[in-house]
Amino acid sequence: MKLTVVGSGDAFGSGGRLQSCYHLEAEGRELLLDCGATAIIGMQRLGLDPDRVSTIVISHLHGDHFAGLVWFLLHAHYVTGRTAPLRVVGPESIEERFAAAAEALFPQSTKIDRRFEMTFDTHLGGVARQIDGFRITPFEVSHPSGAPPYALRVEAEGKVLTFSGDTKWVDVLLEAAADADLYISECYGYDAEGGHHMTWRDIAQNLDRLGARRVLLTHMGRGMLSHVSQVTDPRVLLAEDGLRLEI
Ligand SMILES: [Zn+2]
Ligand SMILES: [Zn+2]
Repeated sequence: MKLTVVGSGDAFGSGGRLQSCYHLEAEGRELLLDCGATAIIGMQRLGLDPDRVSTIVISHLHGDHFAGLVWFLLHAHYVTGRTAPLRVVGPESIEERFAAAAEALFPQSTKIDRRFEMTFDTHLGGVARQIDGFRITPFEVSHPSGAPPYALRVEAEGKVLTFSGDTKWVDVLLEAAADADLYISECYGYDAEGGHHMTWRDIAQNLDRLGARRVLLTHMGRGMLSHVSQVTDPRVLLAEDGLRLEI
């Protein structure tokens, strides 16, 4: 399974990073985890073809994680003339939230006569689902966003990748990341109280319990970015836009 980090930033572009988006390739299929507002920009920079993406899986309904669906739709219709179906899987009410965003930003954009089918499915917490070549299990976490937020465990080609989405520390992450080859963890703060997010302190305290082989810190805010030199554990990597890893 190949990972390309399209966007490793927080909601505010801290460090000049793009918003949340991870491109996965396995079994000849391509999938996105999250689609922040800048997803199409990031894919264009990296030479990734949005038309090859068959499924987009959304962790939670904050704009820096799902708003890019609006531009994904417009790009597919007006630029590439996509014909392949596109499946979006996310928290309940994702279809309504997507339609509201699309209509606010580009009126009538949900009414255009598309040449491709776009379907929406909702996560069932704790229930694994086979999506293209990927087996995906959503675990409900804690991060107020108008609908349940999820960490996502993705299995393909005998490998496991877990993505925390946005959340404060909750023990269900131990289950979601158990024996993962790579655990992508949001790390918004360094050591101050993280509020609805995690800090490096939360993650460091739980590294041994997590049991993931490698941990990739992402979604770092200004405070965390100014302390990355303090992260010296050999299991821990720092995400950046354009990073490619073989899982
Ligand atoms: Zn976020
Ligand atoms: Zn969020």
